[in-house]
Amino acid sequence: MQRLETDVAIIGAGISGLVTALRLADQGVRSLVLEKGAEDRYPCNTRVAGGAFHVAHRDVAEDPEIIRNAVVSRTKGAAREDLVDALVNDIGGATKWLREKGVRFIKVGHETYRRHTLAPPIATHGRRYWEGRGGDVLLRTLEAALIKAGGGIVRGTRARQLVMEGGACVGLHAEQASGPVEISARAVVVCDGGFHSDPALMREFISPAPEKMLQRNAGTGTGDGIRMARAVGAQVVGMDRFYGHVMSQDAMHNPDLWPFPMIDFVCAAGVVVDGTGRRFMDEGLGGVTMANRIARQADPLGATVIFDAAIWNGPGREYLIPANPTLLSNGGTLLSAPDLPSLAAQIGVPADALAETVQAFNAAVASGQEAALTPHRSTGNYKAMQIQGGPYHAVKLCAGITYTMGGLVINADGHVLDAQDQPIPGLYSAGCAAGGIEGGKGDGQVAYVGGLTRSTVFALRAANELARQLVPA
Ligand SMILES: Cc1cc2nc3c(=O)[nH]c(=O)nc-3n(C[C@H](O)[C@H](O)[C@H](O)COP(=O)(O)OP(=O)(O)OC[C@H]3O[C@@H](n4cnc5c(N)ncnc54)[C@H](O)[C@@H]3O)c2cc1C
Repeated sequence: MQRLETDVAIIGAGISGLVTALRLADQGVRSLVLEKGAEDRYPCNTRVAGGAFHVAHRDVAEDPEIIRNAVVSRTKGAAREDLVDALVNDIGGATKWLREKGVRFIKVGHETYRRHTLAPPIATHGRRYWEGRGGDVLLRTLEAALIKAGGGIVRGTRARQLVMEGGACVGLHAEQASGPVEISARAVVVCDGGFHSDPALMREFISPAPEKMLQRNAGTGTGDGIRMARAVGAQVVGMDRFYGHVMSQDAMHNPDLWPFPMIDFVCAAGVVVDGTGRRFMDEGLGGVTMANRIARQADPLGATVIFDAAIWNGPGREYLIPANPTLLSNGGTLLSAPDLPSLAAQIGVPADALAETVQAFNAAVASGQEAALTPHRSTGNYKAMQIQGGPYHAVKLCAGITYTMGGLVINADGHVLDAQDQPIPGLYSAGCAAGGIEGGKGDGQVAYVGGLTRSTVFALRAANELARQLVPA
């Protein structure tokens, strides 16, 4: 068996793994970044990300108190306070650190949350929309800086098992095409991106039928780090929620229909029905929450959005890459009919039930009584619009998962905690393998805070803590 030795073994070479390694290098700590992808441009979520660098849709350069209010109001007290403090206080400095390492940002569009977007921004069309842009450039910039600092990525190496000695993590077992590798280290940092592409964990926590969900991601988050850490006593949190969007069902077999366009804004204006022709969720809570609700249905491919020409030409045109016209120009299906019974026949739902649903919805919108609908329809974030034809439209939906929000419980230094809330010596985590910030609680809105920013902040913090422990004063 091949044996390697380092100070810190890092699992995964996305933004969290590379930031950890580079920050350790800044402080004279050796690390090995193990990446299961063998290609030069190994896939990962960072590489294909949209690149908006925000915290709860606030710009990273805003006053920390403004950012804190946004996070707290969105997560409704469910996020760990120490993690929120760390995120809002550090994000300004973390962005500056990335800049110093050569990462560039640009303002895109008019929305606050896109004032810091990774440059150059992703293309608005094409399957390789990310190539030479956004996260792809960020990864290449960080890797080049790491190599300059004497480090690098060991590609084609999949971490499989942590090695423990006297209760402390002292390395790991990994696999390469040529055989097993044992890496001994003084600490391990799990940065493998979450479990969105692992069918077993997805079935355990997210959906009764994960195969009926769209993998709106790079397909690399297979939950290895969470499994390995749970096996040595690590605690997990918030595993039942994910960041994602409502997508056209056609995206399940047409790669031109993901990651964009999302159908969120159309759904948030109209009604979403299941196979019985009835509503089953609060569309007013927005796309991330709707995607989570659809995933939980016994049949996650049973949802359809009903809307009209005014919605298609209004909310349908919202966003940089809007549903209208992208859905049609990229080969997706827009069902249309002059009346509701004909539309019901096309969708395959009972015509009388669909007519009742739309009638009740229209009456509630006309009288401002949306909250009295069953299920409740909130209007605080998205305005409900009556569905009046001209013609009537429908799109069959699916839930697209981008990344899992929950994961290993960490403290503000990225130290992984056990079931008694005690740090497991030598075990750290950052990025989407760790939980505790996003998700929210109860039946309300699923709270999205931002994957790139939290990955950067906790990677820097884990590296700083490790350097404090490993570098003699
Ligand atoms: C389409 C899309 C759009 C997005 N847009 C945005 C956006 O605009 N703004 C935003 O904030 N976030 C966005 N995100 C989310 C963001 O990309 C992630 O939150 C972030 O990149 C996570 O970084 P990470 O380092 O945790 O994981 P990743 O970037 O996924 O990296 C994890 C790495 O670990 C490797 N790995 C996995 N298992 C092992 C193993 N056992 N051994 C070795 N290596 C392993 C993987 O191959 C991968 O390279 C988007 C994501 C997607 C998919």
